[in-house]
Amino acid sequence: MSMASQVIREWMGIQQFPPATQTKLLELLGKLKQEGGVGKSSTVNSIIGEKAVTVSTFQSEGPRPVMVSRSRAGFTLNIVDTPGLIEGGYVNYHAIQLIKRFLLNKTIDVLLYVDRLDVYRVDNLDKQITRAITDNFGEQIWKRALIVLTHAQLSLPDRLDYEVFCSKRSEALLKFVSPSTWTKKKDIQGSFVPVVLVENSGRCAKNENDEKVLPNGTAWIPNLVKTITEVVLNGSKALVVDKKLVEGPNPNEKGKILIPVIFAFQYFFIIKPLIRAIKSDAAKEAKPVWARASRKL
Ligand code: GDP
Ligand code: MG
Repeated sequence: MSMASQVIREWMGIQQFPPATQTKLLELLGKLKQEGGVGKSSTVNSIIGEKAVTVSTFQSEGPRPVMVSRSRAGFTLNIVDTPGLIEGGYVNYHAIQLIKRFLLNKTIDVLLYVDRLDVYRVDNLDKQITRAITDNFGEQIWKRALIVLTHAQLSLPDRLDYEVFCSKRSEALLKFVSPSTWTKKKDIQGSFVPVVLVENSGRCAKNENDEKVLPNGTAWIPNLVKTITEVVLNGSKALVVDKKLVEGPNPNEKGKILIPVIFAFQYFFIIKPLIRAIKSDAAKEAKPVWARASRKL
């Protein structure tokens, strides 16, 4: 059947279903349609505290990476907000190439791999996307990575405990993000990727100090920056994006595998040094429960 010659008709048959079924179906379609952002740009803005980059409710984020730089107290924070890496259920290798070229001669201090806390898992796509990152930036990138899960202020069905849900969700993702799943190399096997929860919504709950908090009480902005700092200071090397890395062979370039799903896994980079000042703070503080759970891996 040729898609090009097909006329797309309005789905009238849906009206034959009982209203309750219609409602459910439309709700599900709404979810599928929401291929748009997972909250990368919103997270950039939350960290910076300004509307520095464009947030788009429906699709069409810019196809190009954007760098935002801010200086304070002797530090310059450079954040690169990238387009998503998934398009129509595929890994978009063109987008990855664009990002690599944008980063040429720059240093990646931290990679933030952004996804939604509240989406369903589609294992194969997880695998593809994490693999594509590894193939393009090298497995060492995961030592400089953290997973950011947005939409963390979710209401859970029934009795499902928030902490349990979060650790299950991050474990599912880390199964693929952890390089140990595809490499036998010893030096990286023991490594882990920290998971941080984020709620960018203006309706995020606040504590008595007016800080945005997660359902578990964590003030998430300082917690995110703290985790970024920990990753920067964890003793691993920052990744210099040189010509070789940008132009090097990409084993994934050849065949795109058809994956019939539409959830977006997307991420952005943070590059260049930041915020050493909170180093000592970070070292002292205990991990929240959900962060501890993920470290078991
Ligand atoms: P990007 O495409 O990954 O950069 O995603 P955007 O930052 O543009 O966000 C896409 C949509 O999701 C926008 O309508 C945002 O307002 C919304 N959004 C982003 N992060 C959150 C979040 O943590 N919670 C909620 N409720 N909405 C969010
Ligand atoms: Mg965006």
